[in-house]
Amino acid sequence: MSMPQHRLLILDDDPEVGRHIGLIAERAGTPWRSVVRVQDFFLQLEQWQPTHLIIDLVMPEQDGVQIMRTLAERGCRARVAIISGVDSRVMDAAMRSGLEHGLDVRGVIPKPFPMGSVLAFLQQDAEQAPVAMGRGDAVQDALPLGGRDSDFSAHLWTAELERALESKQFTVEYQPKIHCNAEILAGFEALVRWEQPFGSPQLPARFIHLMEQSQLIEELTMEVFGQSIRWFATHFPESGISLSINISARNLVETRFVDKVLILCEQHSLDPQRIIFEVSESSAMEDPTMSLAALTRFRMKGFQLSIDDFGTGFSSMVQLVRLPFSEIKVDKSFVSSAVVSSESRAVVKSIVDLGHSLGLRTTAEGVEDQQTLRFIKSIGCDLAQGYFIARPMTGERVMDWINSKWGSTL
Ligand code: C2E
Ligand code: CA
Ligand code: CA
Repeated sequence: MSMPQHRLLILDDDPEVGRHIGLIAERAGTPWRSVVRVQDFFLQLEQWQPTHLIIDLVMPEQDGVQIMRTLAERGCRARVAIISGVDSRVMDAAMRSGLEHGLDVRGVIPKPFPMGSVLAFLQQDAEQAPVAMGRGDAVQDALPLGGRDSDFSAHLWTAELERALESKQFTVEYQPKIHCNAEILAGFEALVRWEQPFGSPQLPARFIHLMEQSQLIEELTMEVFGQSIRWFATHFPESGISLSINISARNLVETRFVDKVLILCEQHSLDPQRIIFEVSESSAMEDPTMSLAALTRFRMKGFQLSIDDFGTGFSSMVQLVRLPFSEIKVDKSFVSSAVVSSESRAVVKSIVDLGHSLGLRTTAEGVEDQQTLRFIKSIGCDLAQGYFIARPMTGERVMDWINSKWGSTL
């Protein structure tokens, strides 16, 4: 992988971004330098003769378009990639302008996930033609770097996520759930976060699906379970409060999963009854026969099961009745629009009624205001979760939240 003939110069007014990209280049064996000022950028360009340039478009002193124009005027032959972060139309225009000025613009490095595209930028064959110039779709062709070979970039991602697991970069936030009527604490849902060394924490939507495609999800679930059970057993050793954990279809087929979580419960002297595994409706219905067997095992060991995002899949009542769930979570898309949409109110109400007629507890997630809480109370929904009650918080902040709301005792 080492390419000593390459030299990468990065221009970004945020030195952290420069350093982050530099570290990725280092992994690819490419020497790099990072500058925060335009003046230093042009100085390095003259003196160090970089072969690759990564440029932030939005700089306090000069914008990327101007910088690219100057580069073109100086007859720069280096390959150029732009750091994204601004509106995509602005980016398109900037790239187009660079191409039209005759620069070898190769694409866009997305923030905050530069890994795959930085490597692709550095490793493109010298022979590989730069994006065609003057063609209407030139910019489209160049976007995003590494995206043209999605297997390659998925592979890089998986490697990055694997390292993130090894170096313990995943943390957990907890979102409280309350009993609608008494408005007292019922439990918490554990939600994973990826704390990258640079940048803000990443939400699961950015990485869960990739982890589900590889076996990494099994390890991630155990990591989340391990962290949250430690926190939960420390702070709520004997209350009736529950802990909900999201699991994926893949955890259902993993035969040892139930045994592993059971051992952890025993180690922390926690009754499995207090643990709720949330499986999304679509995961559970992927293979209903297999799910039936797996979910029954969970219940036999004493765990509770919740069917998550209910209303978004296409399960029939028959399928639902067959599976041994203890709770239904009405999908937040219906709940958060209930106040403004009579259709949403009808869906929420019929799911709550369905749950009750099957003897299941019902939770509405996505409760964002007082009116919504009042509505779900009025239709007899058992539990509520949402920003109106509290946002997901670190374990430490949860304890402050409880103290401020109810005093130190629950
Ligand atoms: P979910 O299980 O449906 O979790 C609820 C999501 O809704 C969370 O997003 C939460 O922050 C958000 N939310 C909570 N209250 C409100 C509200 O009032 N309004 C709105 N609009 N949103 C609200 P988050 O944390 O980004 O998680 C997204 C999804 O990622 C989760 O959806 C879950 O499916 C998945 N996920 C999270 N943690 C894990 C995990 O440890 N393992 C697995 N397999 N999936 C996880
Ligand atoms: Ca959930
Ligand atoms: Ca949900």
